[in-house]
Amino acid sequence: MKICPICNQHLNTQLHFGNLFQLTTHLCLNCLSQLEGVSGCPYCGKKDTTTLCEDCLSWKKLGIEIKNTALYYYNGFAKDLIEKIKFSGNLRLLNAFKDEIKGQFKKGDRYSIPIPIHERKWKERGFNQALAIARLLPYPILDCFKKNEDITQSKRKREERLLARDDFSLKEEGFRLDGKKIILVDDIYTTGSTIHQIARICQEIGASEITSFTVFRS
Ligand SMILES: [Zn+2]
Ligand SMILES: [Zn+2]
Repeated sequence: MKICPICNQHLNTQLHFGNLFQLTTHLCLNCLSQLEGVSGCPYCGKKDTTTLCEDCLSWKKLGIEIKNTALYYYNGFAKDLIEKIKFSGNLRLLNAFKDEIKGQFKKGDRYSIPIPIHERKWKERGFNQALAIARLLPYPILDCFKKNEDITQSKRKREERLLARDDFSLKEEGFRLDGKKIILVDDIYTTGSTIHQIARICQEIGASEITSFTVFRS
């Protein structure tokens, strides 16, 4: 008997119209109904707009255009889930999204780059959730960046966020991504600053195409 990876309820696996969607996601209907699909800004999913939002326009002007794919908005239910994953270390909860991720990404000549967390945080937590998510995508992983220091993006002013560029660096000096198609992977898209900073470096070291994937959009 299959169980919902989020709430551990048994799933009704008998096929009828009401549970068709459940069968494709392996989540119970109750959990599914609490997740809110992303629409909004075509690049970052920011709510209440159908055209490029102010932030995405600013980045476009700076020469970095990233289309982020996110599955769900980071609502209260999603927040509880991420906290469970981060603080209990139950990475199996991420399997709740495995089939949806599989549906989004076809095999191809791309590489996943997980957004790094600071080494201190990694030691505390024992894992990087972005790396765990990257493992659900069908591409080889290049874990080539490191986080330099802990600056909370939300503490920065908007201008500072747009221009920040020293939060991350390459683990190995001289590393190149010439001609490679890259997908940056993280758990939550918040301001987009992290993803754009790393994308800028990827561009500088030769990546030919850069997109990003996050499970949630805050
Ligand atoms: Zn459930
Ligand atoms: Zn946007």
